[in-house]
Amino acid sequence: MISLEHVNKFFGEHHVLKDVSLNVNEGEKIVIIGPSGSGKSTLIRCINRLEKVSDGHIFVDGIDITEPKAPVQEVRQKVAMVFQNFNLYAHKTIIQNLTLAPIKVKGVSKEEATKTGMEYLERVGLADKAHAYPSQLSGGQQQRVAIARALNMHPEIILFDEPTSALDPEMIQEVLDVMIDLSKQNITMICVTHEMGFARQVADQVIFMDDGQIIETGTPEHFFTNTQNERAKEFLSKII
Ligand code: ADP
Ligand code: MG
Repeated sequence: MISLEHVNKFFGEHHVLKDVSLNVNEGEKIVIIGPSGSGKSTLIRCINRLEKVSDGHIFVDGIDITEPKAPVQEVRQKVAMVFQNFNLYAHKTIIQNLTLAPIKVKGVSKEEATKTGMEYLERVGLADKAHAYPSQLSGGQQQRVAIARALNMHPEIILFDEPTSALDPEMIQEVLDVMIDLSKQNITMICVTHEMGFARQVADQVIFMDDGQIIETGTPEHFFTNTQNERAKEFLSKII
């Protein structure tokens, strides 16, 4: 479903992704961990072309998105993203947040987008907030809305960039529960998160990044019991 081949990314002189290769199968759940500044966000932002790679190739569902003529809109319909800070539209209601992109980008009718949007709000437990504004919701509720909004595009792939790290501790689990529920579906998920309980529960592979490189890949169990790399060990000892 996703294939990165020798991807390099520079910001000016700064070499941020260094020869990164990675394959993710359809339906797989990947967790990416690693210190701040190691390139995790840049890596997932390259997968939906929020960033362009400097060289190498990225294939998403067979499309080489690094080609200059790549159909970026088509790719963005397949790949949804959930950010650390929710990024909801402050001046739109919750249901409008969910229906805007399907209507504008996919050409779905308002009735249909509203119907499926309400189903997703139901699923994240927030149907009663459909006509509220984002500022009237807690951080955990806003993030659950952001996930419902992503799902209302019916993506094949969903990318999460530290979805719980801006939340008060008591709200983290409600968001993780929505993500765990989602992981039971055949959707491909890549999650940058340091919630290792979540990783243990859902991840097929955990990837440890450091200084722009994938240093170690393994099952969650491997990372808990058998990490080889010293930097990965040291990092894990700080977050577990
Ligand atoms: P992480 O998500 O692992 O914390 P990032 O991918 O955000 O790491 O950043 C990797 C490196 O790239 C950092 O050194 C960061 O300062 C740099 N970087 C990220 N985005 C930009 C940008 N738009 N312009 C310049 N440098 C950037
Ligand atoms: Mg980041």
